[in-house]
Amino acid sequence: MLTTNPFEDDKLREECGVFGIWGAETAAAVTALGLHALQHRGQEAAGITSFDGKAFHSHRAMGHVAGNFDMDSIIRSLAGRAAIGHVRYSTTGETALRNVQPLYAELSTGGFAVAHNGNISNAMRLRRELNARGSIFQSTSDTEVIIHLVATSSFRSLLDRFIDALKQVEGAYSLACLTEEGMIGCRDPLGIRPLVMGRLGDAYVFASETVALDVIGATYIRTVEPGELIVVSERGVESHRPFAPMRPRPCIFEHVYFSRPDSIVDGSSVYTVRKAIGAELARENPVEADYVVPVPDSGVPAAIGYAQESGIPFELGIIRSHYVGRTFIQPGDQVRHLGVKLKHNANSALIAGKKLVLIDDSIVRGTTSLKIVQMLREAGAREVHMRIASPPTRHSCFYGVDTPERKKLLAAQMNVAEMNAYIKANSLAFLSIDGLYRALGEDMRDTDQPQFCDACFSGAYPTRLTDHEDAEQHGQLIPAERYA
Ligand code: SF4
Repeated sequence: MLTTNPFEDDKLREECGVFGIWGAETAAAVTALGLHALQHRGQEAAGITSFDGKAFHSHRAMGHVAGNFDMDSIIRSLAGRAAIGHVRYSTTGETALRNVQPLYAELSTGGFAVAHNGNISNAMRLRRELNARGSIFQSTSDTEVIIHLVATSSFRSLLDRFIDALKQVEGAYSLACLTEEGMIGCRDPLGIRPLVMGRLGDAYVFASETVALDVIGATYIRTVEPGELIVVSERGVESHRPFAPMRPRPCIFEHVYFSRPDSIVDGSSVYTVRKAIGAELARENPVEADYVVPVPDSGVPAAIGYAQESGIPFELGIIRSHYVGRTFIQPGDQVRHLGVKLKHNANSALIAGKKLVLIDDSIVRGTTSLKIVQMLREAGAREVHMRIASPPTRHSCFYGVDTPERKKLLAAQMNVAEMNAYIKANSLAFLSIDGLYRALGEDMRDTDQPQFCDACFSGAYPTRLTDHEDAEQHGQLIPAERYA
């Protein structure tokens, strides 16, 4: 039986990464490299659509970028000096190729391809309305709603139709779009998901994270601002701001876990912020110990920050295998628990008889924390004090992150003392929400107008959740995975 690696299952997962380039000889090849750098944002499917001046070409497939875009045949077939690409996690029940992006349609205004990171929180209601007016959907993706809204808009130009469409959608979207006239990059008015712009020679690039620019040798120009729509074409670069200005609410979890530590997100180095988070955590929740030990890899920068602030030595008390994929063959229950050790193993020679501060970025279901604490104890650790580099995750995300139902979030069911008893640590403590904001350079969280989306910690969602409200009215629960 193929099953999901239990370690990956116990994390919130970013569901998508986008990339686009306009004006490069080898646009599809560069896009494949850019997507490779964004692979952590979505590992189950990838796609590229290119435009050669006359026709669009597309390749979409399940699996990793490296396995899908061989340079000899596939990349050669994706001709043209412009391309956009997408990586995604498929979510429960919908692994269909028809949902793999970029999505493409022939509109009255010409070909239109779109790659989307985020989630539209009124997609189901819009879909019902479009269906009632005769639209026929090809996929179950929320992104396809944007295409139908563009297709049915009464405005004449593609740009006006696109803006008209975006004004009807709620939620989170960072988009890279390809048309016959140019490439469009845009972010929702709150800038919930990231998007940056760069330059590679004469070509312009959009990417979810700066690491994709680094990998292709591009120069970072700037972040695409919340509510900004940038058109790159033969005429140059045009910036549009079609929405009423509002205070941005970028996703705070990008800094905690989703983005690669070597990326710059909304002007901040993710690595530096994670170290600052660790330092805040040490100030808020000190403990006497022999070593600070990260759960690798995601706990490493915060653990370095904790160690530097506390003066307790940083050590690798857990070693991670880099050869375990997201899925592996799991023959039966008897060996299920061994899956944990496939990916992480205790460094028993180091930790035997020692008191440890164990640092992880978050607790989702708590199943992994329980297994790691148990593993460290079996390897001889005398005490294990768990410190979490974010506040308790109590709420689901409806903005393009795969979260379990609320009832499966440990912190939605238990207080900290109960969670500590569940994971069997000597002590457990979380970073406060103000501590997280301080690590991001703010004095504290503005309770009236928070500077970030922190809804998975606070429950304060920055947009309407129309589909969720509709479902609740009808006594249904929409699982978060339906929002992918
Ligand atoms: Fe990010 Fe959490 Fe907001 Fe989702 S709910 S966008 S994960 S901060």
